[in-house]
Formats: sequence, C-alpha cells, structure tokens
Amino acid sequence: MKIIRSIVQCKICDDVIESKFTYDYVTCKCGAIFLDGGTEYQRYGLWPEKTNGKPKEKVIDFSLSEYEGD
Ligand SMILES: [Zn+2]
Repeated sequence: MKIIRSIVQCKICDDVIESKFTYDYVTCKCGAIFLDGGTEYQRYGLWPEKTNGKPKEKVIDFSLSEYEGD
C-alpha cells in the first residue's frame, strides 16, 4: 500500500504530527507517540510509560493519513 500522507493524532494530547520524508522522525507534544518513515514506510510507536499501558488504538488515531487506493 502506497502512502500519500503519513499523519497521526495523539489521543492523549490531541497533537497532530506528520512525517514528511523517510527519516523525518516526529513525536507528539506529550511524547507518548512517534512517527517515522514519511511516505516510504509508516513506522510508529508509543511509549508505555507515557500511555499507562493503553493499547495503540486508544492512543493513536490514523484517520488523517492518506493511502493510495483509499
Ligand atoms: Zn501526545
């Protein structure tokens, strides 16, 4: 699946972050999540110590990302 725009929102601090190119590593304001890879690949993660062990669906909102063929 080709990525057109890689954007996620942190559900804890509501910050919206976008990784614009391959090594563009971005984190949200509260530091709970990160995003990397730009439009090459979508690498993301969260830090359990900031999220109290919440599952990723409760922390990261992917609905702002755009994928080819959506
Ligand atoms: Zn956050």
